[in-house]
Amino acid sequence: MTRSAMTSMLHSQGEFRTLPNDSSLTAMMAKNSQIIQVGHENVDVGEGVKVKHKVYGIDGAIIKEASDLIYSRPYSSMTQKERDIAVHCPKCKQKRLIKERWSDCLICQRKTE
Ligand SMILES: [Zn+2]
Repeated sequence: MTRSAMTSMLHSQGEFRTLPNDSSLTAMMAKNSQIIQVGHENVDVGEGVKVKHKVYGIDGAIIKEASDLIYSRPYSSMTQKERDIAVHCPKCKQKRLIKERWSDCLICQRKTE
């Protein structure tokens, strides 16, 4: 999904008072380890001019099922309830929701690099 596709999808849901602009959306996606760049798409911007837009997708190496989403969520997008129980991952030092039997967070467990 490109940024503009994402913007129009967010818009159609109508749940936001203000929509993120292009650059804040870029920053948000760069910071979120749930999302990766999956390629490029040539977008026709008129007059036969085509520009390359980045295409983003969910990182399938980390997110395998819907329930993985809350365990890989960045602290900034957690609810207050989640923040209260989030702990520092010993490996990446990020605050995440970590199951008791896990030694580190879901992202560290699944990231290969
Ligand atoms: Zn970690």
